Amino acid sequence: MWIATTIQETRKQRQALAGSVAFVPTMGALHDGHAWLMRAGRQLADHVVVSIFVNPTQFGPNEDFARYPRTINDDLQLCEKAGVAGVFCPEVEEMYPPQDVGCRISLPGLDDILEGKIRPGHFTGVCRVVAKLLNIVGPDIACWGQKDYQQCRVVDAMMRDLAMPIRNVVLPTVREPDGLAMSSRNRYLDAENRRHATGLYKALGVAKAMVEQDGQTDPQIVEDAMRQAMEAHHFAVDYAVIRHPLTLTPLDSIEPRLTRGVVALAAGRLGPVRLIDNMILGRETAKQEE
Ligand code: AMP
Repeated sequence: MWIATTIQETRKQRQALAGSVAFVPTMGALHDGHAWLMRAGRQLADHVVVSIFVNPTQFGPNEDFARYPRTINDDLQLCEKAGVAGVFCPEVEEMYPPQDVGCRISLPGLDDILEGKIRPGHFTGVCRVVAKLLNIVGPDIACWGQKDYQQCRVVDAMMRDLAMPIRNVVLPTVREPDGLAMSSRNRYLDAENRRHATGLYKALGVAKAMVEQDGQTDPQIVEDAMRQAMEAHHFAVDYAVIRHPLTLTPLDSIEPRLTRGVVALAAGRLGPVRLIDNMILGRETAKQEE
């Protein structure tokens, strides 16, 4: 497995790879969720290339950039075990040299809602780093985790708008046995908050049952129930919403026959740790009914 820290070296290694490449961009502190994307990438392409880069431009001034976990030695071992061909792990100066102007990609209506509203500028930073990484690695396929649902929609829209010749594949969220979505930030939950963290998954389960079993069509009623489930587990709720699965716009009613279902998205804070999660509702029902 090659390990490159410069753009030039990464391009050279990429050119030496015969066949197709699947790319898994990460911020490191890798866990089974990341490993799952890498293994999926191996099924989809001849080679998998991973990037490990804690991207400063997607963190707000009061966010956790400085204390984001950095575990590069363990990360490289995990990549090696997952059969990755090469890893690009640049320093900040390599990705953002002083002469950079600070190119901005904006996606009005998509990057300024939900996560983008709570974390202004977050998706501008994500788009900047993703576009640059894609230009450096030159993959055929990019693999993304459904856990970051809005990020998937934002990146997809950017790549479509800019006619980037890369196929996006979204893989399901990998969870702990109690349902908590795996996340690099989970390690910062103390024992009590770790117990309460399942409240996020429970809230999504409540929404799923209301829509799929009870046939609830009023988004407000489902959203209120999600919020209550989170608050019962001491979450300070940032949002708990039902949205259109592609545009992420609010819905007047939950249309049970919407073939793509709807998406329930939730985010909140437990003490110092911020968690997000999501679940598609109604798609299976819709499929069975077709
Ligand atoms: P991150 O390192 O948090 O930027 O994540 C890198 C990629 O891994 C993103 O596409 C995430 O959506 C994905 N990812 C993170 N956690 C999980 C998970 N629990 N299951 C599946 N994919 C995940």
